[in-house]
Amino acid sequence: TETYTNIADAAGDTVTAAGTTVPAVKAVQVHKAFGSLHVLKGVDLTVMPGTVTVILGPSGSGKSTFLRLINQLETLTGGSIEVDGEMIGYKYVTRNGQQVLQTLDDKDVARQRAKLGMVFQRFNLFPHMTALENVMEAPVHVKHESKAKAREEAVGELQRVGLGDRLDYYPSQLSGGQQQRVAIARALAMHPDIMLFDEPTSALDPELVGEVLNVMRSLATAGMTMICVTHEIGFAREVADQVVFMDGGVVVEKGGPEIIEHPTEPRFKDFLQHVL
Ligand code: ADP
Ligand code: MG
Repeated sequence: TETYTNIADAAGDTVTAAGTTVPAVKAVQVHKAFGSLHVLKGVDLTVMPGTVTVILGPSGSGKSTFLRLINQLETLTGGSIEVDGEMIGYKYVTRNGQQVLQTLDDKDVARQRAKLGMVFQRFNLFPHMTALENVMEAPVHVKHESKAKAREEAVGELQRVGLGDRLDYYPSQLSGGQQQRVAIARALAMHPDIMLFDEPTSALDPELVGEVLNVMRSLATAGMTMICVTHEIGFAREVADQVVFMDGGVVVEKGGPEIIEHPTEPRFKDFLQHVL
């Protein structure tokens, strides 16, 4: 639509010759099985650049697995996922006149994964490093940035999440909410195009949830493309462009945030009654 195109243009995203915007993420009939356990059973999802998608659903419905597939922490059993218009994990090559799928090499996988930042339920910061060192770690050791440049950027990212006065604190000296904000700054320091959040506030004491949601809200306002798995319905209602309800490995209902007020599928209605 017009709106999406404008947002995408402003953010410098890929626009095809026909003037249509390339989705940030496009999942088509995604399947995932762990042995005989069929966890995802044909998930379709399109996420446009500069938009926020909130995924809701009961525990065990496959939400984390889906995010992990997008970030190539798991491999697909079936279907395909494109990130910025590029198929992840595989490429087509011509062999004996035939188009065949070939697994990407580690370098290409790393290049694709670098487009994504991920924040997990558990903060998993390095406990022996300060907030600043945690945020500098990947730019220095993965991107081989100079320490001076990485430090300058890390300070900027920590200021952005409201922790400019906690640079030299160790994780154990920070609250859960502060640790999670360091985790967000650490992901941002790699300049991802897309941020994936997997229940970033679920492990926090209730009084610390707001500060993390506020950082996520400001990221959304700044135009970051975000896919958020969360049970925070208020956040979904306020911030989401797209709401997706998953259950049993399929997308049961999706639409604008208004579907939270007006769900049509019985399973979604039932879920909302339990979380609201
Ligand atoms: P959600 O995030 O919605 O709670 P998950 O994606 O974590 O759901 O899990 C969906 C199902 O897949 C669960 O039954 C879970 O036990 C199973 N599962 C997830 N990861 C693995 C794995 N690595 N090996 C086996 N089963 C898994
Ligand atoms: Mg999960």
